[in-house]
Amino acid sequence: MDKIVMVDLHTQYQRIKGEIDEAIQQVLNTSAFIQGPQVQQFAEALATYNDVDFVIPCANGTDALQIAMMALEYKPGDEIVLPVHTYVATAEVIALLGLTPVFTEVDPDTFNIDPNQIQEKITPCTRAIVPVHLYGQCADMEAILAIAKRNNLDVIEDTAQALGAIYTFSDGRKMRAGTMGTIGTTSFFPSKNLGCYGDGGALLTRDSKLAEKLKMIANHGQRIKYHHDIIGINSRLDTLQAAILRVKLNYLDEYISARNAVANFYDQKLSSIEGLQRPQRSRQSTHVFHQYTLRISNNRRDELKTFLEKREIPSMIYYPVPLHLQKAYRRKGVEEGAFPITETLSAEVISLPIHTEMSEDQLLFIANSIKEFFN
Ligand SMILES: *Cc1c(COP(=O)(O)O)cnc(C)c1O
Repeated sequence: MDKIVMVDLHTQYQRIKGEIDEAIQQVLNTSAFIQGPQVQQFAEALATYNDVDFVIPCANGTDALQIAMMALEYKPGDEIVLPVHTYVATAEVIALLGLTPVFTEVDPDTFNIDPNQIQEKITPCTRAIVPVHLYGQCADMEAILAIAKRNNLDVIEDTAQALGAIYTFSDGRKMRAGTMGTIGTTSFFPSKNLGCYGDGGALLTRDSKLAEKLKMIANHGQRIKYHHDIIGINSRLDTLQAAILRVKLNYLDEYISARNAVANFYDQKLSSIEGLQRPQRSRQSTHVFHQYTLRISNNRRDELKTFLEKREIPSMIYYPVPLHLQKAYRRKGVEEGAFPITETLSAEVISLPIHTEMSEDQLLFIANSIKEFFN
């Protein structure tokens, strides 16, 4: 059996090496390393995939969030509602722009922001809700969009972990993650479901004016070279990365299926274990399983992690310290106990290896090891 890893980017590359190498060689041949034609070609292909009008590539998923908030012209003091159980990037850009992150509790089963907790967080200063489609499954967008509409708020979907997920509204309409709100943001960090071979990111929107502005902000606030109409940043997707992504986008659905096959295997093998909760599927959203995340109760999570480590089975904790208890994001009066669900999740979650290249014997070994731990 091959060594088990959290993400096997090497084998994944080997399977499409011919196409990738050719795409890279083409960029090298023309040497248009910045804003080569592959960048726009990839943007158009991703827009088609997501059935959205505009895709604006940028340097990474964190920048995408920042560019979105710059384009929507939030001012210091404005409040942005986001889940407290998320990756730091979501809160980071809010704080960086002088805005106030307003942490909100999540649903203990789907791990996504709990819409029932949003309304009470809204004040006259609130400008936006930033749902994060965590671990690969869409947040409850129908409820979130209704709250946003009622309160005249923007919705910025952090889709870094859920590109390709499909949400079904109660009237039967289906939409891809990142295309339902005002702006969607995503990341092509190598381990994401659609990953490049370095850093990369993108913004998605249906609004043509906003698209133009996002594009300008990502490029020093200029439409015409050396004419800077607004303050921007330097955030580009490299041509090489765009060329790689253009190849890999053709495999995204296959990758999502492979991840779902792994999840289904774990689901089946890990059923009815006392003290272990498998990931719960939302009724409205498909799951692209960026992570397969268990909850382990009775204070046994760390013990399980060590047990697996001894068998050379890696696992990860996303995330071990809730944002409201992080030194950089602590606020007076928001102490331990402020977000009990998220605090419990930080102590209970554990993500198992899941990627596109897992073999049946690896999966069986992982599942049997977990069963043994609980026996
Ligand atoms: C990965 C990730 C980001 C940031 O993406 P980068 O490309 O690493 O900047 C933002 N939000 C979430 C939820 C992520 O998982």
